[in-house]
Amino acid sequence: MARANAAYYARRDPFADFVTSPEISQMFGELLGAWAESCWEAMGKPARVVLAEAGPGRGTLMADVLRLIERLIPQFAAAIDLWLIETSPRLREVQAQKLPKAKFADDLTGLPDGPLILLANEFLDALPIRQFRWTEEGWMERFVVDGAFVEWSCADVPREADAGQIVERCEAAEEFTKALAGRLAHSGGVALLVDYGSLRSTPGDSLQALRHGKPADPLANPGSADLTAHVDFEALSKLAKAAGVKVHGPLAQGSFLSRLGVYQRANVLARGKEPARAMKLMAEANRLADPAMMGTLFKVMALAAPELPVPAGFDL
Ligand code: SAH
Repeated sequence: MARANAAYYARRDPFADFVTSPEISQMFGELLGAWAESCWEAMGKPARVVLAEAGPGRGTLMADVLRLIERLIPQFAAAIDLWLIETSPRLREVQAQKLPKAKFADDLTGLPDGPLILLANEFLDALPIRQFRWTEEGWMERFVVDGAFVEWSCADVPREADAGQIVERCEAAEEFTKALAGRLAHSGGVALLVDYGSLRSTPGDSLQALRHGKPADPLANPGSADLTAHVDFEALSKLAKAAGVKVHGPLAQGSFLSRLGVYQRANVLARGKEPARAMKLMAEANRLADPAMMGTLFKVMALAAPELPVPAGFDL
C-alpha cells in the first residue's frame, strides 16, 4: 500500500480521482484559518509559530487558510513560519507554486522547534495499513503476492474480533500521532486531524481504491488508484493521550463546521451574488456538513498541549 500510493501520488494530478473538502469549497480552508487563529490567541499569540500541513495535496487548503489570515489578522500572518509535510516531488512542485513561502519537510522531524499549529485533511487515510483476520487457527496476516491476497499465521493481535473478521492497524498513523502528540506536549500547540473513519475502533475491511471517482479493485494496477483506509480515531486518541496531550473529539465534521459557522459563512459570501452563485455556495456548505454527505463520515479530532483551553468547535 505504501509503495502503490507513493507511485500514485507521484503522478501529475491524482486529484482527478477524488474530491476533498478544500477542493469542494474555499469555506473549508477559511473556517480552518479562523480556527487556527483562535488557537494562536489561546497560545498567547506567540511572535513566531510553525503553521504546518501534513499531506497538502494541491495546496488549496493552506492557500485558503492563509488568504483569510493575511486579510483579517496581519499580526498572526507575520508570526507564521509555513511548512508543508509532503513526500511526493510532483505535488511539492504544485504546492510551491501556490504557496511560495512554504518550506518542505518529509516528516514531523523535519519541522523547526517551537509552538506548532498543524492541519491535516485526508492525510492519515493515505498511510499504509496492515490487515489481520481471526480464524479457527488463530490470527492470520494478509499479504499481497502476485496481485492477490494471501494469508500467513502471525503473532497475536491484541484486538477482539469474530471468526472471519478483519481488523486493521495503521502503524504509520500511530507513529505520526505519537510523535505529534509528544511534540505538542513538549513545545506547545495544537493539531487538527480531519479524516474519514469511525469514532470507535470497529473490525472490518476498509481498504478502498478510487479510480476516476469510482470504487475500483485495490489490487489491480498498483499505483493507478488512490488507496485509503478508514482512520481508527479511537486507537490514535489513546496513543495521543498517553503521549501527554489533551484530545478533543473526534466529532462529526458536520457538527464541527456548523459550530464554526459554515452556513453563516455561506450566507455572507452569497450576499449580493447572482442566485446561481448563491445557491452553489449553499450547496457547498451542505456537501461539507450535511450528515448524508460528508458531515458524518468525516471526523475531526484535535490534539492540544495540556495547558490550552478547549479549541473552538469542540466546546459543547
Ligand atoms: N490534504 C489534501 C490532499 C489529501 S491526499 C486535500 O485535502 O485535498 C494525501 C496527501 O498526502 C497527498 O498530498 C500525498 O502526497 C500526501 N502523502 C501521502 N503519504 C504521505 C507520507 N507518508 N508523508 C507525507 N505526505 C504523504
